[in-house]
Amino acid sequence: MQITEKQLELVNSRIAALEKAGSFYGKKLKEAGISRVDSPEDFAKLPFSEKSDLREAYPLGLMTAPEEEIVRIHSSSGTTGTPVIIPYTAKDVEDWAIMFARCYETAGITNKDRIQITPGYGLWTAGIGFQNGAERLGAMVIPMGPGNTDKQLQMMQDMESTVICATSSYALLLGEEIEKRGIRDKIKLKKGVIGSERWSQKMRDNIANQLGIELFDIYGLTEIYGPGIGINCPGGEGMHYWDDYLYLEIIDPVTGKNVPDGEPGEIVITTLVKEGAPLIRYRTHDLSRIIPGKCSCGRCYPRIDTIKGRTDDMMKIKGVNVFPSQIEEVLGGFHEISSEYQIRISHLDGKDTMRIYVETTGDYDFNDVANRIAAKVKSRIGFTPIVKVVEVGVLPRSEKKTARVIDERYD
Ligand code: ZN
Repeated sequence: MQITEKQLELVNSRIAALEKAGSFYGKKLKEAGISRVDSPEDFAKLPFSEKSDLREAYPLGLMTAPEEEIVRIHSSSGTTGTPVIIPYTAKDVEDWAIMFARCYETAGITNKDRIQITPGYGLWTAGIGFQNGAERLGAMVIPMGPGNTDKQLQMMQDMESTVICATSSYALLLGEEIEKRGIRDKIKLKKGVIGSERWSQKMRDNIANQLGIELFDIYGLTEIYGPGIGINCPGGEGMHYWDDYLYLEIIDPVTGKNVPDGEPGEIVITTLVKEGAPLIRYRTHDLSRIIPGKCSCGRCYPRIDTIKGRTDDMMKIKGVNVFPSQIEEVLGGFHEISSEYQIRISHLDGKDTMRIYVETTGDYDFNDVANRIAAKVKSRIGFTPIVKVVEVGVLPRSEKKTARVIDERYD
């Protein structure tokens, strides 16, 4: 998608704001001698921004609006080091809510819906993003936050929630619990808005069937507002995103060059109107592609494909590059197993070993299933993994993101 004249103007206004504030990126752009961009070619020469830069700007180096205009900060998780702090102005908070309300509308959710929100509140952008968007829409919010499944299910029945917002892992857990307790006919859910992690078609089908709902993928990241910058539409392919607020590019993650529309690569995002912490050409490390052409739903907003993984998910095993999504696709072909799996990579006796744990019911011969999966995986990635089959329910379910790949080589 080539950047438009109008988008270029907005980028220029962000460059001017960054430089005027003398914030982290303002200084960087000034040092690079960049004051404006006049063409798509100029734009493509702008340097990328990276999460490591954002960490370097800790705590408030990204702040680009005057302090008196900042109304809130959010932070991305600091599990891998210094957290990133993103300041928001009142307009940023409002813009985010407008985008999020648009997501709900795209999913056919209205002000008559009752939206149960299970993602976390606090420094995270998750819970509060879902909430502000729902209030903007005029729906009734049931702000549960994460955990306490007994209470979740009780409120779901008593409040007659029609929409559930959750991670895919937690939606799966709720679905299994509803089935176990035999309360499916007391549940009024119609739709699920699922955020923040890559999930397989199989898991999607499981959740949709168990809860009897239609599912929507919501896209977003803390550095760029939070969840709510894109969502899939009923019947259409991929996710629409809001190009009046954001400019998206797809690049080759190795060369950094733009790839043609339709080709896979890494999503890079530029915020067009953000005030508190504008970002230019931010590398998300999420893998997707632009879907060319107009959507069958008639909406004019452009589309990206479902997120296929992350550039940093790539595992190098026995010298071969492997993405978890490749394994997941193979597993998706086996109806005998559940949607849950775990990949463990270890280094034993001088050799890398990959073990794949999958779940099945007692109706199948564990050895037979394991052998057939191992053969299929080998034909896909070139070497044979050790496949371990366990009973359904043995692998961990999580209220947040389920860790599916555990690399024990560097412990
Ligand atoms: Zn559409």
